[in-house]
Amino acid sequence: MAYHQFSIHLPGHFHETISRLLMNRGCLGIIEQPDGLVAYFPLTTDPDEIIRELNIWESLLRKQKKSGFSFTFEHAVLPDSDWNEYWKRGFRPMDVGEKFTIMPPWNRIYGDRIPLIIDPGMAFGTGHHETTRSCIILIERYADVVPNRRFLDLGTGTGLLAIVALKLGFKEVEGIDTDPLAIEAAQRNIEENDAKKIRLREGSLAPTDGSYDFIAANLISGTLIALARDIADHLADGGHAVLSGILHGQQDEVINAMRSSGLTLVEQLCDGKWVSLVVKH
Ligand code: SAH
Repeated sequence: MAYHQFSIHLPGHFHETISRLLMNRGCLGIIEQPDGLVAYFPLTTDPDEIIRELNIWESLLRKQKKSGFSFTFEHAVLPDSDWNEYWKRGFRPMDVGEKFTIMPPWNRIYGDRIPLIIDPGMAFGTGHHETTRSCIILIERYADVVPNRRFLDLGTGTGLLAIVALKLGFKEVEGIDTDPLAIEAAQRNIEENDAKKIRLREGSLAPTDGSYDFIAANLISGTLIALARDIADHLADGGHAVLSGILHGQQDEVINAMRSSGLTLVEQLCDGKWVSLVVKH
């Protein structure tokens, strides 16, 4: 299988906006570089459509430009093996939180920390993103505050947060994701980490899901706001939720939506331009 690769050169303060627009157009993954973004799309994507969009965004951003503004891009069809090599070069072991080291299957470290072996596949969540790291820190911090029974990783991606929860002692751990590729990647990672007790499901929160002691949701502000009521409905009394993927400046909207749904703010954690929240029922 091959992929469309778009290498987009543009100033850093536009990376976030363009990344989000690309993700909304079905982008599978984005690698941020100092001078731009590299974005990957499935071969089923019509590259002309993306090129048209990029041209439109370029002209819109150019209108707000300062002198020296530059926005250029290249398109290539990338064979699968190149994609894998790309990930392998960029993905190295990394300590996260108090207890964990995230590592790829091809570069394992054995020590006194808990290994999380993550093959990124096509899914988001290698632990290299600030929001994933913040989630791990907050899950570690609050795991002992709630009964360690039912944990939900809402938008599980590679399955990383679900695996963290199981390793921290949660008895019943579920990961759900609307993206079938994420479920496939999570399944492989669950096997790799001896975490087969985790149950995976394609989809989102459903009325039949019952209640959880802990919910981790590393999504985006708009989705968190849309899901606020569902998250509250599925959180047990005294249960905690970690909400992440919130851009700095958007946290108040998310906090207000959670409060309107009956949840109380416990903590905010900032990492760069990202904010993560802990709320409780
Ligand atoms: N939990 C991982 C991945 C977060 S990326 C981590 O923290 O690193 C967000 C994931 O949420 C993506 O895999 C995306 O497919 C999924 N997602 C987006 N909206 C969703 C929704 N409404 N319900 C369930 N999953 C969703």
